[in-house]
Amino acid sequence: MTDISSSTPVRTRFAPSPTGFLHVGGVRTALFAWLLARQSGGKFVLRLEDTDQKREVEGSAAHLMTSLRALGMEYDEGPDVDGPYGPYRQSDRLEIYRQWAQKLIDSGRAYADPYTADEIQAFRESAKAEKKAFLYRHHRPENPPAWDGTTPLRFKSDPKEYSWHDEVMGDLHTGPEVIDDFILIKSDGFPTYNFAHIVDDAEMHITHIIRGQEFISSQPNYLNLYDALDLTHPIFATMPHIMAESGNKKLGKRDGAKDVLDYLKDGYTPEALVNFIASMGWNDGTEQEIFSREELIEKFSLDRVQRSGARFDEQRLLWLNGQWIRRLSLDDLFDRVANFWPESAVAATPEYKKEILGLVQDRLKTLADLPLLCSYFFTTPTPDWTMVDENKQLKKQGRDELVALLQQTITALEDSEFTPEAIQATLNQLLETTGQKPGILFSMIRLAVSWAPFSPALNDTLATIGKQSVIKRLQQAIETANPA
Ligand code: GLU
Repeated sequence: MTDISSSTPVRTRFAPSPTGFLHVGGVRTALFAWLLARQSGGKFVLRLEDTDQKREVEGSAAHLMTSLRALGMEYDEGPDVDGPYGPYRQSDRLEIYRQWAQKLIDSGRAYADPYTADEIQAFRESAKAEKKAFLYRHHRPENPPAWDGTTPLRFKSDPKEYSWHDEVMGDLHTGPEVIDDFILIKSDGFPTYNFAHIVDDAEMHITHIIRGQEFISSQPNYLNLYDALDLTHPIFATMPHIMAESGNKKLGKRDGAKDVLDYLKDGYTPEALVNFIASMGWNDGTEQEIFSREELIEKFSLDRVQRSGARFDEQRLLWLNGQWIRRLSLDDLFDRVANFWPESAVAATPEYKKEILGLVQDRLKTLADLPLLCSYFFTTPTPDWTMVDENKQLKKQGRDELVALLQQTITALEDSEFTPEAIQATLNQLLETTGQKPGILFSMIRLAVSWAPFSPALNDTLATIGKQSVIKRLQQAIETANPA
């Protein structure tokens, strides 16, 4: 048996089971398969592995397809994209598995499993009592009945040693003791994953299998089945687990393994998510952290995927997202934040909104930060002097002093033109006349007009809010400074 030759056009697949949402681990497997196909001008196939009907979750197939597209990982063939090797949903391929099963029956490599669950349990227990590993093949029936589809169909394995190469895990070796007779077709007529994926990968001419670590222990059994079917096996690349942020455990739902569509709803960009997910366990050997999709396509290689578990670091995702938001053109960003404006912006013109977006763009870590950063541009905020009390620079100042500063600010701004440049000049002048540090004067003015934790450059902020409203807000601040 030889590996695929390098001249074969690359065909990779993502083969999720529709049992839930798509989380970062699944996306990473899909992404690496997609990158490999794109960088070689090959094909990326989506195959739905829905043979475990008990575990199927309604709506999740559609959800998976939406998620892949939302991240820009278009597939070339799939349940809703015609291709030469369909259907791409395993439940529509039962006849194909039956035909392949028949080949194994005909060659004496599959048999009807005659045992009840209780009988198998008894075998297990006696193996345990004898302190031996339980293997089905130790209990092969001597004269199995012809398979009529009402019992499981089992593979008759041929135990032997295997040495194989995994593009990520390296050269691997196992002995015959790990090879066993596994179920090919269950008594409900559906194939097992173990059988179906091998048939499908062969029929769909898949050249690379990229999948999670949970399958690696079954690999020798798969190799045994490839042999029995006289198939050349694809190239294997096993992805290490993604580890939770803290501790030494696999990332689970509780540690942030959430639906990627939820990340998008929470204001993360597909660019940042793809960048983040690609860098979990892969790097290009340099210090580069920001990778566009195009760069990933160009630079990705399986041999730079790390063997050890990659750590999930949500702070890093947040940072990357901020970086990606900055890189977007204002028009593009404007389109993307359509659903994130605060309610108070409903009556604002697109021009005004765009102006504000331009001011806060650099500060957005997620698109959902928008209301916090910009509400005060659309509505007069309610003064909250506790923010002054909590401000490092301002809390040391007396209220009366601060009120006096605000008073002087009003006087100065009343006479000022209201362009950003003129305001800047007025503010600089004010620094001189008050003899205050910018950290105090400007922080106070900023809070008094925004009552928000951050604002863009003060002169731009004031110019955008407009003179009348700025003066009104400063007055309101003064009025609420010393509660009776
Ligand atoms: N259906 C398997 C899963 O969802 C796919 C594994 C594979 O890629 O072969 O984990």
